Amino acid sequence: MPIQRVRDRVLSGLAKKRGGAHRYSHWRWGVAIAFTLAVAALPAFDLLRIDLWGGHHHYLGRELGLVETLKHFAFPFLAINLAIILASRFLGRYLCGFVCPYGAVARFADWLRIRSKSAAQRWAARGALLAVCGAMCVVSFSFWVDWRVFSEGSSLAIAIAGLFLAGLIVSFYVMVTRLGLEFCRNWCPSGVYFALLGHESFNGVEFAHPESCTDCKACEKVCPMNLLPRQMSGGAHLDGHGFYPDGQSNFSLCIRCGDCVAACEGTSVASDGPVSLRMGWLPQGARNSNPPPQSEPAPEDFGRERSEWVEAGSGEPARKG
Ligand code: SF4
Ligand code: SF4
Repeated sequence: MPIQRVRDRVLSGLAKKRGGAHRYSHWRWGVAIAFTLAVAALPAFDLLRIDLWGGHHHYLGRELGLVETLKHFAFPFLAINLAIILASRFLGRYLCGFVCPYGAVARFADWLRIRSKSAAQRWAARGALLAVCGAMCVVSFSFWVDWRVFSEGSSLAIAIAGLFLAGLIVSFYVMVTRLGLEFCRNWCPSGVYFALLGHESFNGVEFAHPESCTDCKACEKVCPMNLLPRQMSGGAHLDGHGFYPDGQSNFSLCIRCGDCVAACEGTSVASDGPVSLRMGWLPQGARNSNPPPQSEPAPEDFGRERSEWVEAGSGEPARKG
């Protein structure tokens, strides 16, 4: 069964059992809404805006030439990127799991799909998702084109601006509905960059209490990145997928979304023991992908085929099927 359908089923079962959204979902929505509003405020208040139509470029409320605007923006742009690099290197990929607006919209699409049972609900869900995609694209559009193009522009300018906006909305909607979180797993260029930074961090998912684990595998079934949350450290190295070559660790691919922890908490509510998975500051031994050392053949194995000594239990890293 495709990952998405299994994930939908488990998430919907857990939500029913829990009787509401998990605390990570509340945090995620809070951060995503605050971040989107902050970004929307930039062009709305002329804090940063390039006007490809009328040439009225703005930076911090002042109208400047294009080169001047870009020059002024260069320093904050570099500072923001440096902050992202440091945060991803030391804390892990929380930006993907809790801040990225694309991720938030893809999760909203999942949420709508899980709850839409009848044809009428599915149509309403499509409408709601289109409205959200439209709002996000309106924000992006505002960075590049002054809205007055629709009231003061020539017919040609209105047609080009209208087509640009409509194309943006349709592309975003198709991407969210067709790829959803699979885009984050396979195709997001920023994700590759974060994964390269993320082989080691001070914060993330830890298999803290293996003794409580019932091997229900709910954590694996809900992971949008198709990882093995119990093998963050010293665990499996995965086959290549999307932009990624073979050998990426669970630890570097993990977007710190907390779905596995929420699933583990949901399946553990009946037991008295501690929850097996947790997300937060990591102890020393769990701060990197820590790949198991490649076992070398013992002296008596020399002369045998590698596959023979691997089968004999030499500890080749496991792979998720
Ligand atoms: S391992 Fe857990 S926190 Fe990491 S991506 Fe998968 S579900 Fe999210
Ligand atoms: S969800 Fe928790 S109990 Fe179930 S397999 Fe994963 S770690 Fe073990």
